[in-house]
Amino acid sequence: MSRAAVFLDRDGTMIEDVGYLNRIDDIRMFPWTVEAIRSLNRAGFIVVVVTNQSAIARGYLTEKGLAEIHAELDDVITSGGGKVAAYYYCPHHPEGTVAPFATSCGCRKPAAGMVERAAADLDIDLTRSFVVGDKWVDVGLARAVGATAVLVRTGYGADEAKLAAPGLTADAILDDLGLAANWIILNS
Ligand SMILES: [Mg+2]
Ligand SMILES: [Zn+2]
Repeated sequence: MSRAAVFLDRDGTMIEDVGYLNRIDDIRMFPWTVEAIRSLNRAGFIVVVVTNQSAIARGYLTEKGLAEIHAELDDVITSGGGKVAAYYYCPHHPEGTVAPFATSCGCRKPAAGMVERAAADLDIDLTRSFVVGDKWVDVGLARAVGATAVLVRTGYGADEAKLAAPGLTADAILDDLGLAANWIILNS
């Protein structure tokens, strides 16, 4: 039977958004992140990270550098008893400078590419799944794939929540990922 997943945005949702993170030393995990992932795992969800990383197209970061950052992040999560099933990233941006990433694509959120790939790789039932993020593009992603959308007020979220996003409404707007995890468990 396919599984339900919680798709997590990375910057501004799991960790502070420092803008084009490209150094392991600049990872600032929010204090509730590991416990939130652990709770979701315990409730039967697989947790998948989906992150736009135009820093690669812009030449601020290599794919190898990003892999190192995700390995470090994953060490911290695993040490705390949490499990992220997979990390998907979009390295593209149409205004980038680094070939072959300087292009439009089907994976930059709110496009569905990363989630569709994960659903196929990991046998995920998207109708029972959730997307948590701090921007309307994350809500748009949830809508594009038929998942439930949770906007958090960390990162850009407090400002985003004040903006009207044309045609988009979140299913919940909550202060942080810890509260989002609780809400998801209660509403699944
Ligand atoms: Mg974000
Ligand atoms: Zn892409």
